[in-house]
Amino acid sequence: KKIEDQILVIFGASGDLTARKLIPALFNLYRAKQLPKNFVVLGASRSDMSDEEFRDKVLLKSSYLNGNGAEIDEKLLHDFSQRFFYEDLGGTYDTEYSKLRKRVESLKKSFNTSGNIIYYLSTPPTLYETVARRLSESGMNTQNNGWKRLIVEKPFGYSLETAKKLNQGLQKYFTEPQIYRIDHYLGKETVQNLLVTRFSNSIFEPLWNRNYIKHVEITNAESVGVEKRGGYYDKSGALRDMFQNHLLQIVSLVVMEPPIGNHPEEIRNEKVKALKSLRIMRDEQTLFDNTIRAQYVASEVKGEEVKGYRQEDGVDPSSTTETFAAIKFYVDNWRWHGVPFYVRTAKRMPTKVTEIVIHFKTPHHQIFMDSGVNSKDNKLIVRIQPDEGILVKFGVKVPGQGFKVERANLDFYYSSLSETYVMDAYERLLLDAMQGDATLYARADEVEAAWEFVDPILDYWKNGKDVRMYGYAAGVWGPENADDLIDDNGFWRNPGEN
Ligand code: NAP
Repeated sequence: KKIEDQILVIFGASGDLTARKLIPALFNLYRAKQLPKNFVVLGASRSDMSDEEFRDKVLLKSSYLNGNGAEIDEKLLHDFSQRFFYEDLGGTYDTEYSKLRKRVESLKKSFNTSGNIIYYLSTPPTLYETVARRLSESGMNTQNNGWKRLIVEKPFGYSLETAKKLNQGLQKYFTEPQIYRIDHYLGKETVQNLLVTRFSNSIFEPLWNRNYIKHVEITNAESVGVEKRGGYYDKSGALRDMFQNHLLQIVSLVVMEPPIGNHPEEIRNEKVKALKSLRIMRDEQTLFDNTIRAQYVASEVKGEEVKGYRQEDGVDPSSTTETFAAIKFYVDNWRWHGVPFYVRTAKRMPTKVTEIVIHFKTPHHQIFMDSGVNSKDNKLIVRIQPDEGILVKFGVKVPGQGFKVERANLDFYYSSLSETYVMDAYERLLLDAMQGDATLYARADEVEAAWEFVDPILDYWKNGKDVRMYGYAAGVWGPENADDLIDDNGFWRNPGEN
């Protein structure tokens, strides 16, 4: 698809996300000659900086440009930096944008970028609506002289109510097709590959239903704790930070029906339908039986003392914010009736990993000897990170007398496609927005449907009777009680262990 000339205006340009993700992504795209010929970046935030200072800080002296393993070409970097400009917006972003507008107009003339503009909101979320309103008041959202798009960072709301308010707030100034809500998980190659695995092969989809699938398991684990984000995290927690957005996006891709085509709206319609079919848990007993929360406690990992969550900087010492969340739920539709979904996300786990495991039913009539526990269960494992790839576990005959069965693996790793450059999530998503492709961005109704499912759990954890808060040591797979969620005395598949 052709990329039209355009300006990218980044609000919050002095912040961490801009330096760590956006600028390296843009540089990689520039190096790969993916950016349009006439393209400039205008950074805006509260800090007082000149263009040179901005270039120096976010680009020339950046320690985040990794060059994807390649040497950084200093001349190329310098040339690229000449496309970066900066404008300060004063104290709160809630000021007249006439100066900003003039700057945009002059860049448009000098670089011949036409009137196409992306506004990237990388500010604290409390400012999203303010910026949209100010852009509208200064006439910077009109599309009569080139398109205008608005990229909005996470978190998108804090609850169903706040997400709805934010949607309504933004839609006062920008139309829904102009709004791109980012979920960087959707930018990951393996997440997109879920669609291809399911809908371009004939060996998986016929089995992708309640007749053949016993249960679905999704694990998202981080080995680190809250690090420097204690203050932010304590107001959020695992359910808001990971589950409502990234993990439910993955769930929607596992659950959705085949779309009629690959147009963004066709795919997004099916995702919304999938999210709307999640069975919402409302009564306390159901919530008690199907949700587990926990916090990591002070412990020792590989001989090193690790602080407990409540002792972390910025965290309330009596905090009830979860760093571990495990949820069991059902999907009320024809395809998934009766199939449990188990999803967990946590910090301070033994390793950093995100994976989906589709557990297939064992054959109804078993005629061969089993050499070990569950060895005949077929599993399809989609590894989202790290070692991105797909693994199929199936039974094979052990050579020799009789019919002893053992489990074997068929695997595919993205790293084996060594010739193919795998884009970082932000590269892919920025490029898509620049081309006007919203497939991998969340639509308003999608975000709201996800909150609709999560809200009652959050409410129960906050206000319910008999809500438990378990503890777990750093470096283990969460509290043992999380296994209680799994049917038939089962247990979670701990990546790399079983
Ligand atoms: P950040 O470093 O704290 O700040 C971003 C920008 O916001 C800075 O330019 C800062 O400007 C400005 N800012 C901070 N507080 C402000 C206030 N009270 N009033 C006006 N401006 C203020 O944040 P970030 O980590 O870059 O994150 C930006 C957005 O992306 C947030 O919505 C965050 O949730 C989201 N996000 C971040 C990450 C990440 O890895 N960092 C990941 C996912 C999503 P000054 O320099 O002028 O103070």
